[in-house]
Amino acid sequence: THFGYKTVDSEDKEKLVANVFHSVAGRYDLMNDLMSMGIHRLWKRFTLELSAIRKGQKVLDIAGGTGDLAMKFAEIVGPEGKVVLADINDSMLKVGRDKLTDQGIIGNIDYVQANAECLPFADNTFDLVTISFGLRNVTDKDAAIRSMLRVLRPGGRLLILEFSKPRHDVISKVYDAYSFSALPMMGKLVTDDAESYRYLAESIRMHPDQDTLEGMMKDAGFVKTGYHNLTDGVVALHKGIKP
Ligand code: SAM
Repeated sequence: THFGYKTVDSEDKEKLVANVFHSVAGRYDLMNDLMSMGIHRLWKRFTLELSAIRKGQKVLDIAGGTGDLAMKFAEIVGPEGKVVLADINDSMLKVGRDKLTDQGIIGNIDYVQANAECLPFADNTFDLVTISFGLRNVTDKDAAIRSMLRVLRPGGRLLILEFSKPRHDVISKVYDAYSFSALPMMGKLVTDDAESYRYLAESIRMHPDQDTLEGMMKDAGFVKTGYHNLTDGVVALHKGIKP
């Protein structure tokens, strides 16, 4: 256990993750802004910059949730390109679809309910695959990384944006205190669901650190791997290329 909260085993994990995101879907965007004090927007902007995505290309944003990244990609690839916003959770997918449709993003975007562990797309389909704050929720992360490799075209790029390990001890302590007290409290106030946000804090803590995740990408077969620490490593952006 961590801080007295129960650790869930992987059998229960899928159910728990599903419940968390069904429960928070409607207020997910608001909570994101509150909890990260808006900084998630900067992390996502950096991801866009590193995506090297161009007009006419094909992008998969898996665990795409409410579509922050997918929305930007759809603008960049234009009508000749294609974006797939995929998520395992139909509540999140619906919030994303409604939001993007309201913003007039239609025609070059598909919405697909899918599990990152076994993606329902042909081999060598996408120029870019992104997974943003999604991998830590996936039960079999190695299977997900292999699956993302499979659907990328040779030369295609995987970007993983995820919470990671702060580089400095003091940041790490402040951040732990923040995520295990302030986060559940805000969760309770805004969504009346402290439990979901406790899970969130715990999943962040259990997630592989920078070098471990890079090792997992290499093991799966990615080349030219590397990562950028953002906000002292609170978040890291990992990159890999399909050979
Ligand atoms: N990518 C969005 C963002 O950055 O704001 C949403 C991130 S949200 C924290 C995590 C998302 O991962 C949820 O929408 C959840 O449903 C999805 N998810 C969890 N497990 C998944 C899986 N095995 N396959 C696909 N999506 C999954």
